[in-house]
Amino acid sequence: MSKDPKSKIQNPKSKAVFIDRDGTLIEEVNFLHRVEDLQYFSYTDEAIRLLKEKGFLVVLVTNQSGIGRGIYTEDQMHSVHAKIQTDLTAKLDAIYFCPHLPNAGCACRKPNLGMIEAALADLPIDLENSWMIGDKILDVELGLNAGIKPILVLTGYGKKHLDKLQRKPYRVAENLLEAVKIITEL
Ligand SMILES: [Mg+2]
Ligand SMILES: [Zn+2]
Repeated sequence: MSKDPKSKIQNPKSKAVFIDRDGTLIEEVNFLHRVEDLQYFSYTDEAIRLLKEKGFLVVLVTNQSGIGRGIYTEDQMHSVHAKIQTDLTAKLDAIYFCPHLPNAGCACRKPNLGMIEAALADLPIDLENSWMIGDKILDVELGLNAGIKPILVLTGYGKKHLDKLQRKPYRVAENLLEAVKIITEL
């Protein structure tokens, strides 16, 4: 029997890009929970489209302690996420969130690995060749903890966090689109 060289069975796993939400995919809004406050960057749609065209799984990983703090409900957050999925031309493959307080000691709050582990259980991810993009130290730390390449973007908290990094990201990029170009042109 001859092998079909195009068969995905030989390598059924896809590279993934894990992306932070606030300050990275969309504008940073303190404890965003109203759909009407949702603001995209001019390049948000293009960046996600590029990744999907290149065959990456795109996974949102977001700390939403506003839920644990009682500032907004999980349902309100889901409404924001549903709107994001409706607005994007190319859809996110999955969205994971941590609703807990920073000091709750949970396994899912970034930089802990819980959300990435959940994604690995749900999706055929080639982790070794995957990436993390975010604007905070904890996003960089998450990428390093997972053994994937983190890119710090300078939107959101990025400029503030750049000087305070203890461990270096793989790269620093102006914004999400630049980060995506670094990833897709490799
Ligand atoms: Mg962020
Ligand atoms: Zn959590």
